[in-house]
Amino acid sequence: MADAPTCPICTMPDPLTAEDGYECATCGHEWLGEASDDLGDIRDANGNVLADGDAVTVVKDLKTDGKAGGIKVGTKIKSIRLVSGDHEIDAKVDGRQLLIKAAYVKKA
Ligand SMILES: [Zn+2]
Repeated sequence: MADAPTCPICTMPDPLTAEDGYECATCGHEWLGEASDDLGDIRDANGNVLADGDAVTVVKDLKTDGKAGGIKVGTKIKSIRLVSGDHEIDAKVDGRQLLIKAAYVKKA
């Protein structure tokens, strides 16, 4: 369960739960609930929206924390998985599981 939302109008926490959303007990505003796993649009370097399973190409040399070296520009990544957080792409590159910023790839 996600954290309880706050009212978008008066910003009071702890709204009442309505049939398919929330109702603010303070100002009466009603709004639809959002799925807690909604990551929003994650866009690549060209502004294209990415989706789970997309293939992408790295557009910038990337450093990784591991000792195996970074990822070279032009590296193709098959079947990305989108995750929440600062680095939005979870992908397997050369057998390594890596997190990559969406701004550093483009849709293949
Ligand atoms: Zn309110």
